[in-house]
Amino acid sequence: MEKHAHARHMKSLLSPIPATLIPGDGIGPEVVGATLRALDALGSPFAWDIQQAGVAGVNSSGDPLPASTLESIRRTRLALKGPLTTPIGEGFRSSNVRLREELQLYSNVRPVRTLVPGRYEDIDLVLVRENIGGFYVAHEYYVPIGNDPRAVAVATGVNSRDACTRIARFAFEYAIKNGRQKITVIHKANILKALTGIFLEAARDVAREYENRVQMNDMIVDACAMQLVLNPWQFDMLLCTNLFGDILSDLLSGLVGGLGMAPGANFGDGTAIFEAVHGSAPDIAGKGIANPISLLLAACLMLEHVGQGDSARRLRTAIHETLNEDNVRTGDLHGKASTEQFADAIVRRLQTA
Ligand code: NAD
Repeated sequence: MEKHAHARHMKSLLSPIPATLIPGDGIGPEVVGATLRALDALGSPFAWDIQQAGVAGVNSSGDPLPASTLESIRRTRLALKGPLTTPIGEGFRSSNVRLREELQLYSNVRPVRTLVPGRYEDIDLVLVRENIGGFYVAHEYYVPIGNDPRAVAVATGVNSRDACTRIARFAFEYAIKNGRQKITVIHKANILKALTGIFLEAARDVAREYENRVQMNDMIVDACAMQLVLNPWQFDMLLCTNLFGDILSDLLSGLVGGLGMAPGANFGDGTAIFEAVHGSAPDIAGKGIANPISLLLAACLMLEHVGQGDSARRLRTAIHETLNEDNVRTGDLHGKASTEQFADAIVRRLQTA
C-alpha cells in the first residue's frame, strides 16, 4: 500500500474517507447508483463529495471539467467516476484526457478476469496503459490547400523517455506487488520508430533492473491483437502506449464478456481515480439495462487502494455468486435483469453473507 493510501486506511478506522464521486453521463448515473447501493450494503468507508463533469458539467456550470470538480479531487486525492461523454469531431476536448493531464494520472491499470463461463475460460490479465502522452496529447491541425481549409490533417504524438521510464517502472512494481510473472511490452516500433521505439527502449532498460524477478518480452500491436484472440493465456501483463492501451483494453474486455466486465484505475503520485473502461453508452442510456459490474469492480479496486481488501473480497464474492449461483445477469451477458435488479441481488448477497 502506498504512503497516502496507508494514511487513509489508518484514518478510515476512525472516520470516513473523503472521496469525490462523479456520476457522469449516459449510463453513468445508473451504474454509479447500483455501485453506491452495493457499497452502502458493505458499510461504505467513503464520505462522498458529489461533483459533475462531462456533459453533466456543461449543463451544470458550462464547463465539461468544472473547477470545483478538480478542486474536490485535488483535496480528496480519491475519486469514483462514471463515464463522461466526449462529442466526436467538433466540440469540447475529452474531460477524461483533461483530468488525467491536470492531475498527472500517468498510469491506467485495467485488469480483466473471467467471471462467467464464455468463449474463454480462466482469463486473468492486467493491462497497464501510459495515460498522458502518445497521440493523446492531441497536437492536431489541418493544412488548407486551395479552397479546402481541411485538405490535410496532421497529428503529432509525444513520448518522453522520462514518461516511458515512469510507466515501465510502475508496471514492474505492480508485477512484483501483485505476483505477476511476465510483462509484454506492446509497440509499433517497426513503423513508429521514434514514438513507440523510445517506449520499448525505456521498458527494456527498466526490465534489466527486475531481471530474474519479472520476465519481459515485446510484441508489435497488430500481432498482439491476433495473439490475444488466438491464445490470450500466453500473456500475463501488457504494458502499452496510450492509444494501443485504449484499443487493446476494449479487446481484453471482450475476452471476459464485454465492456460491462472491465474496471480501470488511474494513478498519479498520491491521487487515484477509479472508473469503468466503458463509455457513457448512449445507445442504452436511460433504459435501466446497463451492466454495473465494471464500476462495481472499479469500486473493489478503490477499496483495495484504501486498504479495505476484506470489503473488496466480499463484494467480488457477491458479484460472483449473483452471476453464477443466482443466475442474475444483465442483457449484455444474455440475462434478463435490469441494472436495479442486479443491484438488488448484489445487496441481498451482501446482507446474507
Ligand atoms: P461505450 O463504451 O460507451 O459503448 C460501446 C458499446 O458497449 C455500446 O453498444 C454500449 O451499449 C455497450 N456498453 C458499454 N458499457 C456497457 C455496460 N456497462 N453494460 C452494457 N453495455 C455496455 O463506447 P462509445 O459508444 O464509443 O462511447 C460513448 C461515449 O463515451 C463517447 O462520448 C466516448 O467518448 C465516451 N467514453 C468515455 C469513457 C470514460 O469516461 N472513461 C470511456 C470510453 C468512452
